[in-house]
Amino acid sequence: MSLVNLYVDGEWIPAADGERFAVENPADVTETVNEYAKGGTSDAERAVEAASEAQPDWESTPAPERGSILRDAAATLEDKKDVLTERLTHEEGKTLSEADPEVQRAIDIFYYYAEKAFDDGGTRKNPSGGRTSLYTVREPLGVAGLITPWNYPIAIPAWKIAPALATGNTVVLKPASNAPGAAAAIVRALEDAGIPDGVINFVPGSGSDVGEVLTTHETVDLVSFTGSSDVGHHVYEQATEDTKRAQAEMGGKNPALVTANADLERAVEAVGAGAFGVTGQACTACSRAIVHTDLYDEFVERIVEYAESIDVGPGLDDPGMGPHVTQSELDSTLDYVDVGVSEGSTLETGGERLEDDDLSDGYFVSPAVFTEVDPETRLFQEEIFGPVLAVTEVKDFDEGVEVANDSQYGLSASIITDDLEEAHAFVDRSECGVVKINEKTTGLDLHVPFGGVKDSSTNTHREQGDAGMDFFTQTKTVYLNT
Ligand code: NAP
Ligand code: MG
Repeated sequence: MSLVNLYVDGEWIPAADGERFAVENPADVTETVNEYAKGGTSDAERAVEAASEAQPDWESTPAPERGSILRDAAATLEDKKDVLTERLTHEEGKTLSEADPEVQRAIDIFYYYAEKAFDDGGTRKNPSGGRTSLYTVREPLGVAGLITPWNYPIAIPAWKIAPALATGNTVVLKPASNAPGAAAAIVRALEDAGIPDGVINFVPGSGSDVGEVLTTHETVDLVSFTGSSDVGHHVYEQATEDTKRAQAEMGGKNPALVTANADLERAVEAVGAGAFGVTGQACTACSRAIVHTDLYDEFVERIVEYAESIDVGPGLDDPGMGPHVTQSELDSTLDYVDVGVSEGSTLETGGERLEDDDLSDGYFVSPAVFTEVDPETRLFQEEIFGPVLAVTEVKDFDEGVEVANDSQYGLSASIITDDLEEAHAFVDRSECGVVKINEKTTGLDLHVPFGGVKDSSTNTHREQGDAGMDFFTQTKTVYLNT
């Protein structure tokens, strides 16, 4: 176990009031994995001030130099990849095979935005009216307050921090309290790479203290939030009230439509991996399978087999599925299983807390499949954030699309079909920010925009790829007449 302090103005320091909090191993809660300084309001304010002071110099640092710091940080993370993977699993619970690509993704994101820092400028247009030049430049906005969730504890901080820094903003990061360790590793890598004091600040602490400061402090210019819809809407309202630029990416209830023209094997693979990967704790997890009546019975039989074949255990043993992150996430999943049963859906398998032998001290649950689920029920409408799949039957393609779209959320959606026409129609008609054909709903490339519609996002800015550069910059248009 180690103690991780706050990182403010280039120094690792305890919280002003000396408070700390501990994070337990979700696979064995008798073990404390790490302790963290618990930042409060005054710590967050200090961090914002440090970021503000450091910002003008960071902005005037040539962009390629900023890029090289990101590149060096990426190399450090790469050197430590195995250790970081293990630590991520230890603290958050996902399996090593799931943590490994996440850490790799964070590394790749830093390399990617390092390169972008070199390339990113503005555009030059042909001037009119005897002018010498007409062009645009991109400028940072200033201080970015970044608030992240626990379920991708290194990838999400990476995809906010890297573009923020590449474009010349300074950062205060508030990581999720359930798993702050992976984000701390990014901060250490940036420190090792020689990032100037105050450019990156790290303040773990509660959402209602540190998070509130980041969304309301007048010196913060941008707020980027990922997390639940309730908190996200609150954050967005507060931030925009103060005319900060803000984005909030939030929950999902992602459908997979299995049409009459689907390859059944492929459908089972895509739905199973999307539903039960990372213990269902993904914003893009597939929680609704909408299956054409012709394939329904066979699909149900096979997806139940799939769920039952998953071995659940401690992530460090690299089983098929790890534990929930906390007691409250476990309880929430178990509650939803009760809700599903009481609403009259058929629980085909799973949904039980696993307490045998070495699992008794962890937050383990067996993957659950419900069938005959009425699309109007809570089980089919609410984000569960656990390994619970709701399957429903539809008579044709149109009904399938309707059921898929009948949701407050709109993050990712997938269709399994060998029919090109259906695939294109689904792309056109599905109400979501990410649409996939013959793939699981989870899994994203880092160089294309990501975000949702409806209640999944404020739909103001996308993240990742060029969109990341856009969110963290404003455009100035220059008319030059010499
Ligand atoms: P959460 O409970 O909403 O928390 C997200 C972050 O907000 C945490 O750092 C939290 O701090 C902080 N926070 C809490 N109250 C706050 C406040 N009043 N002001 C400012 N910040 C506050 O979400 P989570 O449980 O960590 O993550 C799960 C959710 O994230 C799911 O709904 C999932 O769908 C969503 N998610 C979305 C995406 C996406 O890209 N769309 C990606 C991943 C996850 P504490 O940890 O200290 O409470
Ligand atoms: Mg939460």
